Amino acid sequence: MGFRQSSEAGLLLVNIRQLITLRSSNEGPRRGRDLSQLGAIESGAVLCVGGKIASVGKTKDALRDSWIRKNRRKIREIDCAGKVVLPGFVDSHTHPAFTAPRLADFEQRIAGATYEQIAEAGGGIRSSVEGVRKATRAALANHVLEALSQMLAQGTTTVEAKSGYGSNLDAELKSLEAIRDAARQWPGTVAPTLLGAHVVPREYRGREGKYVRIVCHEMIPRAAEGKLARFVDVFCDRGAFSSESAEHIFFAAREHGLGVRAHVCQLSHCEIAPLLKYDPASLDHLDHVSDDDIAALAAQSTMSPAYQTVATLVPGANHFLGLGRFADARRLIDSGVPVALATDYNPGTSPTASMPFVLSLACTHLKMTPAEAIAAATINGAHALRLAERKGSIEPGKDADLAVFDVADYREIPYWMGANRCAMVIVAGRAGAGNREIAG
Ligand SMILES: [Zn+2]
Repeated sequence: MGFRQSSEAGLLLVNIRQLITLRSSNEGPRRGRDLSQLGAIESGAVLCVGGKIASVGKTKDALRDSWIRKNRRKIREIDCAGKVVLPGFVDSHTHPAFTAPRLADFEQRIAGATYEQIAEAGGGIRSSVEGVRKATRAALANHVLEALSQMLAQGTTTVEAKSGYGSNLDAELKSLEAIRDAARQWPGTVAPTLLGAHVVPREYRGREGKYVRIVCHEMIPRAAEGKLARFVDVFCDRGAFSSESAEHIFFAAREHGLGVRAHVCQLSHCEIAPLLKYDPASLDHLDHVSDDDIAALAAQSTMSPAYQTVATLVPGANHFLGLGRFADARRLIDSGVPVALATDYNPGTSPTASMPFVLSLACTHLKMTPAEAIAAATINGAHALRLAERKGSIEPGKDADLAVFDVADYREIPYWMGANRCAMVIVAGRAGAGNREIAG
């Protein structure tokens, strides 16, 4: 990736036109009006030392700082004149462990077939399973790394990566190993998730309970034992797994010390209250959420951040499926539910690695403001991965993961629809190329 193994004392970004820090005195995920508080600094500067953010402020103060003046020769300085700097995006929902795009599904959908009709006809998630079962771990790892590289080039420095196209013990473990292999070659941070319960595989059709027992008694213990996953996910919906199965899976995950998250209410409403007992880090999609669910999520604001649940919205899937309906982000935000945004990168319903594109969709279709979309894609994404102590804002002590955008105003990031204006990324205090590197 061209990241410098630095022998320098630090990295100093100066003359940042808008430094979007997302700093806050509140420890929990952002709710309501707090979601649009960006903590912007005009003509800002950031000093990164030892992979962490050391100080944040105005350029004129940084240049007067005695430590910086004393170490100036050993500090690499980057002039960000006219540019915007954000925390690197935290993409908290992706499915990169697959082998091929689903082009036949794409054409069938254009011709009018629905997601569920395509799945019934043998397309959908099950058609990706065959490819993953046959693939070597190295081939899968290459695919994951390619996806991670595309994400990094567009400003994403932390990614949650799910298995889920293996649907048997060996292929799910192979997928998680491939994610680990790719993560070791990528400068950013990867949070791996076991999604053994993505689809009931053909050989268990009509025997969901039996398959769920394999997830609980074989996949989860092996993933935990091999330290291959931080989270366990389940697709809980019509045509996927029941709430009862999701509870069994969450219980097993907790028994093995793994965090939990779930796909819920994408195609139809399902009860989320029983799942909240297991303190999921995130519940994702929520296109068909009820008033009671919203009240339950909003009521968590007084709990410790370690137990709060973020609502992660993935408008790329609604867009790619051609749905007229999107999650009701305004109702969620205005009711006090913490909202995050993610790509849902996957071959069937959201083949995009671009967080800027997702921000654009969030503004246009979810009626989120550009400021809310940026906070949802950074600090709330970090909360959705229980990584907010290290990620998601530009504050002293956090990991020095930054994205430099070649725009004069943060609102241009969602505005230039489909464009990649990421000029550079900084990961753990080291500078590497985004779309176009700027001279350092
Ligand atoms: Zn998903």
